[in-house]
Amino acid sequence: MRSFSLFFLFGLGGAVFPARGQAPATVKQSMIRLSGKVTDNATRRPVALASVYLLSGNAGTATNELGAFLLKVPAEQLKDTVVISCLGYVPLKVPVAGLPANTVIVLQPSSILADEITLKSRSGLGLVKKALAAIPANYDTTARRLNAFYREKISLGDFELSNNEAVLDIYKVFAAGKTLNDQMRIVKGRKKKIDYGRDAQFYYWISSISNGARGSLGDDLLKYSQAENNPLNPENYRYYAFQYAGSVENGTQTLAHVHVTPKKRSAKGILELDVYLDEDTYVIHRIDYALTEAGVRETSRKNKKLGYFIMSKFLGASLDYHKFTGTVTYKPFRGKWYLDRVTRHWEILVESEKRNMFKRPWTTDIDLVVTGISTEKAKPIESGNIGDKDTPFSTLNSGDYNDDFWENYNILKQGADVLPAPAAPVPVAPPAGTVKPLRYSNRQNGFTRADTLRGTLSPLRSCYDVTFYHLDVAVDPGNRSVSGNNLIRFKTVSPFRKMQLDLYQNMVIDSIVYRSEPLTYRREFDAVFIDLPHELAKGDLAELKVWYHGVPKTPNRAIPMDGGILWDTDSLGNTWAQVVSQGSGASLWWPNKDHQSDEPDSMKTWITVPSQFTEISNGRLTGKTNMPGNRTRYEWAVSYPINNYNVTFNIGMYDHYTASFAGVNPLTIDYYVMPYNCGRARKLFSGVPGMLKVFEDNFGAYPFNRDGFTLVESLYPMEHQSGVCIGRITEQNATQINPLLWHESAHEWWGNAITAKDIADMWIHEAFATYAEVMVAEKIFGKEPAYNYMLEEQKKAGNKEPITGVYNVNHIHYDIGDMYSKGSLMLHTFRNMLANDGKWTALLRAIQNSFRYQTLSAASLIGFINNYLQQDYTPFFKQYLEYTRIPVLEVKLQQKGANLLVTSWWTADAAGFKMPARVTVAGGRFGFIYPSDKPSSILLKNMTAAQFDVDKERFYIGVKVSKE
Ligand SMILES: [Zn+2]
Repeated sequence: MRSFSLFFLFGLGGAVFPARGQAPATVKQSMIRLSGKVTDNATRRPVALASVYLLSGNAGTATNELGAFLLKVPAEQLKDTVVISCLGYVPLKVPVAGLPANTVIVLQPSSILADEITLKSRSGLGLVKKALAAIPANYDTTARRLNAFYREKISLGDFELSNNEAVLDIYKVFAAGKTLNDQMRIVKGRKKKIDYGRDAQFYYWISSISNGARGSLGDDLLKYSQAENNPLNPENYRYYAFQYAGSVENGTQTLAHVHVTPKKRSAKGILELDVYLDEDTYVIHRIDYALTEAGVRETSRKNKKLGYFIMSKFLGASLDYHKFTGTVTYKPFRGKWYLDRVTRHWEILVESEKRNMFKRPWTTDIDLVVTGISTEKAKPIESGNIGDKDTPFSTLNSGDYNDDFWENYNILKQGADVLPAPAAPVPVAPPAGTVKPLRYSNRQNGFTRADTLRGTLSPLRSCYDVTFYHLDVAVDPGNRSVSGNNLIRFKTVSPFRKMQLDLYQNMVIDSIVYRSEPLTYRREFDAVFIDLPHELAKGDLAELKVWYHGVPKTPNRAIPMDGGILWDTDSLGNTWAQVVSQGSGASLWWPNKDHQSDEPDSMKTWITVPSQFTEISNGRLTGKTNMPGNRTRYEWAVSYPINNYNVTFNIGMYDHYTASFAGVNPLTIDYYVMPYNCGRARKLFSGVPGMLKVFEDNFGAYPFNRDGFTLVESLYPMEHQSGVCIGRITEQNATQINPLLWHESAHEWWGNAITAKDIADMWIHEAFATYAEVMVAEKIFGKEPAYNYMLEEQKKAGNKEPITGVYNVNHIHYDIGDMYSKGSLMLHTFRNMLANDGKWTALLRAIQNSFRYQTLSAASLIGFINNYLQQDYTPFFKQYLEYTRIPVLEVKLQQKGANLLVTSWWTADAAGFKMPARVTVAGGRFGFIYPSDKPSSILLKNMTAAQFDVDKERFYIGVKVSKE
């Protein structure tokens, strides 16, 4: 299983800083409408996006590009004061009563004072350190709800690509974190409809930047003062020079100006900052930042991820990063300081020979203006949070571009110079989120007896070993029911008279038949306890048949791993259905021993459907039989072991064609797609032979040769063995480079040929399948883009819960995302630690060779790896799998003349954790050091602290450096 946004992995939102991540005027009483226009005293030109807010209330707004504003203030705040402020201007305070409608407000540009004497005497770094130390005293560091206005405009040359506006509700936690943790919700948004014409895919790609609103919050350099690339992060002081550069007059205040630039030959200095702070209180009022030339190169490199290579190859266009600048300001409110505004400007140069484009500037302008601050105790956003999404803002923002959009939000529309008529309708706040959050993890919420019955390999289950299932059911799309029987053959492992089968309690059992006699049974939750008429002896072969019917559950897609039968329609309106049962378990639709440790050696799946449909299950289609009622029985057979959740049906109006692959063994390939997608499918499937070659080269021969390899267009991607479901084929994903298809296909090796005994070890399926995507990408595009793909996984890793679940309870409701992201990062780190690709591939093949067609535990897999490599990697795997923290390399640097003494050690939870680390040595090259959990030192010749860096790209680790 895999779900992610396929193509627009390319994103700029977290370009500079690591990415992760209300009250429109109140309903009630009479309001005073303040309105006006803000202009520059020197040029008389309008001042756009100036902040206009009440000194003691929480209403605020910003001017539009014509300098105009509208602010509705409750009548009882007549005695309040309005503050009008903007970067580079002296702020102005005007009493509410003294601001009649349509006032023209003139702002005075602030002046710069050069002061020769103080220039020499002040320490820039000293000022910055004092300002950071004073954050808790100066800024409101409690969790707060803020209102903000957001605007994002993207253009290519003079062609407007995207124009978005929104009112945001923000939950801001002022923890000086490393990763984005603000939440936000679109209260109301609108975007212009833009016709991209025939080259839509290209323009869509160009206009798809990642969540810019979230990225804007990430530029709050004070909050994220621990962030990786933030020059204010003490870890980065060694890369930068902090220079006091005079002072700036700002109304009645004088602000010290500190200029921050990367040191010469700095390994990581990529930004230039101008910090303006109050010399008395050390409040930072404003920070301007710009990427340096080296920073532009570095960001460009990191951002050219797989999606970029796919699209550039596919669309014939390339991007060169050019300029990234931004400004962050803070404002006071009721004695504390708050984020005021974030302004960002990006320029990227686009080249496309086939479009006759030569270095055409693609520009993005983003503004986020905080218009309201609530000092009441704030609760997190319960629903609709987009603060952790990387999806482009324009995708998340769905409102129509209607004119009355801003009526209730104190924001004037773009281009509105004439102020709206008075007596606007009373604004109504949208209801706060009422949806309860879904239970996050039953690790916290506990497990029930039902979980134990479902997940434990109890003696009532381990007493027998299933050798064969023959499932024979009819599916009625009319009432979504399933009815029929399953024949179960088994071998007795230990003598028994009572056994457990599994079938969801909503499904009705008609009878359970053994040697032509019905058996007695008892049901408890989803377990079925069956009494046999006599005891079976060890080695006895037996069979029974369960007759049943019912309407299987449908999945709740909001809950991870919630399975069921998906019912939908294709693009022509025809019924389309598919089984998705990973996690919830196959027993949601057919009776079986629903534990991953037991797979039948082979299986038949017969599914009867109305004759107009095609039905696709696993393995080979061995026959089709006409049945009464204008129905057809599709008879499928699997000749290898198969895990229960892989057993599937797909019902729809399919087209079918075949191909072959000259692999290790000749292989037949079957493709089933929607008839209207045949053209796209051929494009998409042209990449299949190349993909199979990479898998066979790295993992060994295709595991289910007798059954063939089938790819099925489906409602949902899922690794169903030898009948792999790849999701819907779309215009966008119909390219031979399709990581989702690679992922699901890789499961044939990881998940299907080798299955985890307990779903708690499901990372064995997902980590390897996710890493297999990288291995295909690497073959096609080379190491660098493939490795950059892993940087994307670093952003996805949550580190909230261990990857390994709780054993024996079918633990599925938890943060499973880390099996994919963190799991693949663990494998990536492991591979880079081996630093020998031949050894890496040999290891993967050896694992396949030893465990193929078996179920296994993580412990036996790790034991095998240790034995194969003749080294104990148990603490390594334990740390990544069983703990939430990643290992941290602690480093102490001491300059010894021209050389650098590096003392380092690992801090981790797993006892005895150690691994090599890649660090810069002389000449900017990388080399290995071998820290353990105890400090050890090494002298790096001809090195300075500013040149020292640790590789956190090939190794998913934390690094803490201190300098003496
Ligand atoms: Zn998967």
